[in-house]
Amino acid sequence: MLDERLPDFIKRAKEAKIPYVFLTTNGTLLDKLGCELLECSLDSMNISTDGHSSEMYEKIRGFPLEKVEEGVIKCAKYARELNTKEHNISFNINCVLVYNEMRNDEFKATFAHKWRKWRDIITHINFISCINKNNKGESILPLINPTNSVCRLPFTRMMINSYGAVEFCCTMLGTQHYYPVKLPNIHDDSLENIWTKEFATHLRNEVLSDNYTRFNICKTCFERESSVLELNGESKQNNVDIY
Ligand code: SF4
Repeated sequence: MLDERLPDFIKRAKEAKIPYVFLTTNGTLLDKLGCELLECSLDSMNISTDGHSSEMYEKIRGFPLEKVEEGVIKCAKYARELNTKEHNISFNINCVLVYNEMRNDEFKATFAHKWRKWRDIITHINFISCINKNNKGESILPLINPTNSVCRLPFTRMMINSYGAVEFCCTMLGTQHYYPVKLPNIHDDSLENIWTKEFATHLRNEVLSDNYTRFNICKTCFERESSVLELNGESKQNNVDIY
C-alpha cells in the first residue's frame, strides 16, 4: 500500500478481465487508503495481524492493533455499501499466532467474537501458527500423514511480483539471498509457458521425489511442513484453523 500506483494496478487488472483481484496487507494503512482501493473493484482483502491481542500485536509490530481494527471496520462498512450495488467484496483476516497460542481455543474464540457483526464481509478468520517446532526442534503440530504428502504450492499457485518475477511460493523469493534460484520472468515468457516449462516441472519433480539438488530451500522450509498436498490430491494446511 506504500506504492501509490496500487489503485492503477488494480484497475488495470480488472480491465484485463483478471477474474479475482485481492490485496494482502498488514492493515496499517487501511484507514487512509482502503476505501479507495475497494472503489477500484478489488474483490477481496487479506488482512494479517500478528498475535491475538493488542499487547502481542504492539510488541511485534510497534503499532496499535486498534488502529488496524478501525481501518478494517471502515473498509468493511464501505464494502457492505458497495455490495448493495454490483460488488461482491469479502475479507479474510489472518491472525498469526505465536508461542502456544494455537493451542488455546479461548484466544481464538475471543478474537473471532470481536468480528461477529461483520461476518457478512469478513467471511474467513484464519488462525495461523507461525511456530511449528519447540525449542528442541520437535514438531508441535502433528503433520498430516507426512509419508504421504508433499508441499502443495508448486502445484496450486503462481504469483508475479512487481518486477515480473514468477514465484510459486513466498519462501523462495524471500530466501534468494541464501538460496539463489533464477526465477522465471513474465517479461521473458508467457504465464502459461512458465507454468508448464522446465523451472516449474523441475521444482515439482524435486518436491515429489523429496530429493533436492537445485531447490535446497525446500529441504528445511517451514511451509513444506504446513502446506501439504496429500498424494490422493486433497490439499490441506496443518497450521491453520479456519473460523
Ligand atoms: S517447500 Fe517451501 S520453498 Fe519449496 S516450494 Fe514449498 S513453500 Fe516453496
